[in-house]
Amino acid sequence: MPAQTRLFLCLKDNFGVLLHDPESGATAAIDAPEAAPIEAALKATGWRLSDILVTHHHADHTGGIAELKQRHRCRVVAPHGEAARIPLVDATVRENDEVQVGSLRGRVLETPGHTAGHISYVFPADKLAFVGDTLFSIGCGRVIEGTPEMMWQSLLKLRALPDDTRIYCGHEYTKANVAFAKTVEPDNAALRARETEVEKLLAAREPTIPSTMGAEKAANPFLRADVPGVAKSVGLAGNPAWKVFAEIRERKNRS
Ligand code: ZN
Ligand code: FE
Repeated sequence: MPAQTRLFLCLKDNFGVLLHDPESGATAAIDAPEAAPIEAALKATGWRLSDILVTHHHADHTGGIAELKQRHRCRVVAPHGEAARIPLVDATVRENDEVQVGSLRGRVLETPGHTAGHISYVFPADKLAFVGDTLFSIGCGRVIEGTPEMMWQSLLKLRALPDDTRIYCGHEYTKANVAFAKTVEPDNAALRARETEVEKLLAAREPTIPSTMGAEKAANPFLRADVPGVAKSVGLAGNPAWKVFAEIRERKNRS
């Protein structure tokens, strides 16, 4: 049976998401920004929380773990490299490890850069990817603990996912990301189309995610640092893609 998801906002601009296996009844929260909205989503769906899959150690992704764990006795799965900074971890995972949520089978991709141990969870049969703060719709996370080169490699790893993979990210930053992306690729038709779509969604108070990898590849400048026109647009024609990526990230930081 296909996986079901439920998406909702937490804190100021974080996304919470539940991943549910109808066959077993198992339900995972991807990250736990805060307990109350996750409890509300569980109540609304009638789902039982069995797991929390953590992408990275930042407080806006882990702040709800203790309360949820106490109430639900759920399993907390966390990146190997960050377990010491995440509360109440039961299992640590590394590159290519399998993570099961009931009968749903996920795979771990190490996607460092935002934090040194950041991971993403991919469920290939359901074409779902939970990418935390590595990739955002039309944006990417700030490079806080890693290097631009490391972050670019992580983005390439995600970019290799099938185009119809649905992308769930950690934050609702899409509107600001689109505004910035237009400064890099003002003539990108896919970006213009995404802008129109985002305006409609936000006007209807709907989330702008999930996005798809195909849509991101066409319009997200951070996934397009190896496109010659993008390099040229930031004055770095002929340079390695990671340097182009670094320049785009630097411009976004200053925007
Ligand atoms: Zn973060
Ligand atoms: Fe975050």
